[in-house]
Amino acid sequence: MNTSRRTFMITIVATSSALSATRSLAQATLDEKDPQAVALSYVGDTAKVDAKKFPKHDNTQLCNGCALWQSKPTDTQGNCALFAGKQVSAKGWCSAWARKR
Ligand code: SF4
Repeated sequence: MNTSRRTFMITIVATSSALSATRSLAQATLDEKDPQAVALSYVGDTAKVDAKKFPKHDNTQLCNGCALWQSKPTDTQGNCALFAGKQVSAKGWCSAWARKR
């Protein structure tokens, strides 16, 4: 293999690895059993919130309508200021929910 071909192949492998790593991070979804998620009673579906425990909750309260949601309103999953490195469901909810203004 000549030098320029070798350099090209190394570049392709390095780029592919970087893309895979980025994709993996983007796909990391917050698990409801994650200790921080449990601490904030996070659920991936707002309809599953315990109404007895959270009487002020209603099903219109969604992650994508929360002040801490950091992605587009139309994204099905997105970033939350409280769960760095993980994605939460647009239809999710946690006890820190605050209406976006
Ligand atoms: Fe969803 Fe808001 Fe809780 Fe983040 S803080 S998980 S966006 S409800």
